[in-house]
Amino acid sequence: MEPAEFSYAPDTTVVSAGRPAREHDAAVNPPIVLSSTYHGSGPVVDGDRAYGRYSNLSWEPFEQALAELERAALPGLLFSSGLAAASAAMELIPPGGVLVIPRHAYQGALVMARELSAKGLFDVREVDIAETDQVLAALEGVSVLWLESPTNPMLEIADLPVLIEAARRANPEVILVMDNTFATPLVQRPLEFGVDIVLHSVTKYLAGHSDVVLGALVTSEPRLRERLLHHRSIHGAIAGPFEAWLALRGLRTLALRIERSQATALLLAERLRTHPAVARVRYPGLSVDPGHARAKAQMNGFGSVICVEVLGGQPSADSVVAALRLWTPATSLGGVESLIERRRRHLNEPHTVPENLLRLSVGIENPEDLWEDLSQALNLARTR
Ligand SMILES: *Cc1c(COP(=O)(O)O)cnc(C)c1O
Repeated sequence: MEPAEFSYAPDTTVVSAGRPAREHDAAVNPPIVLSSTYHGSGPVVDGDRAYGRYSNLSWEPFEQALAELERAALPGLLFSSGLAAASAAMELIPPGGVLVIPRHAYQGALVMARELSAKGLFDVREVDIAETDQVLAALEGVSVLWLESPTNPMLEIADLPVLIEAARRANPEVILVMDNTFATPLVQRPLEFGVDIVLHSVTKYLAGHSDVVLGALVTSEPRLRERLLHHRSIHGAIAGPFEAWLALRGLRTLALRIERSQATALLLAERLRTHPAVARVRYPGLSVDPGHARAKAQMNGFGSVICVEVLGGQPSADSVVAALRLWTPATSLGGVESLIERRRRHLNEPHTVPENLLRLSVGIENPEDLWEDLSQALNLARTR
């Protein structure tokens, strides 16, 4: 593979990274390698592929590309899902340690944290991540500070520089993990703020086509990467070669997809704000949003997820979803097609997420078609 080239802009890197060496008649794209084992007879040493659970030639181009995008010194680690990656990161919490996590972190990560803590493995402190004083008050003895910003689905923005500095002061050994799924490395690079490990649900924007479930971790710390790699090798939550290939294929258009979907998200958020069927719009790109100033300072854009609270409660929210023709009612986000979901349909969703909240994942369709469909559905809900 070509060595990491940090001098390119990210919208070039998504296209150029992870290519095979430029040799005469070499393939331009990395191949899918279907092999569960690798040649070898001497002692197996660190870095050897050796066996298909330790490494796979088909993962490596994506792992290299993700590292370049997050400006990491070491290749990323691909996992079978975002939650498999989260599981590896949570295992870094020492027995009896303390995990500080947003109460509106991704619900799967929250459920995992609560279940591990219920077994007595560590203590969990759930905090309102946008309320800096509340987080600071919870940092005593912290082992892992879990960050997510914007949060899914409440779109709260954490004050990253302040929280990271305070966590290090509270415990110089603290490990800072940040779920960067909503922003992607094109919009926010947590390692540059001093975070230790970046987590992605590759399922979402990075792969981008709602056809693959994958996760990844990225760190520049050799010791941490070694522990995470060991976890992956021993627990076995590995990616399939075809899924890894699809993720790299999807990554090639990330910059274009993000540019289009962010611009449409801002346009829709502004129009939704004045729609008579809408009680509240959450989108950090709106100047009235409580997270706007922080998002502007930390992010290069505001992402493509909008949350809308519909007047008339759950029945109205459900009827908006039912009346849509172009938007697809489905969970997940970050694909080329626009998706919409009432989040509380998931029984695990925290009850502080309003019943009438719709999460919109804005895709790359024509913005006026998306608006027309949304506004007709909202108008119907209003006249019901
Ligand atoms: C979807 C998601 C996850 C979980 O990833 P999977 O690939 O579904 O396992 C984690 N964090 C966030 C923010 C997500 O949106």
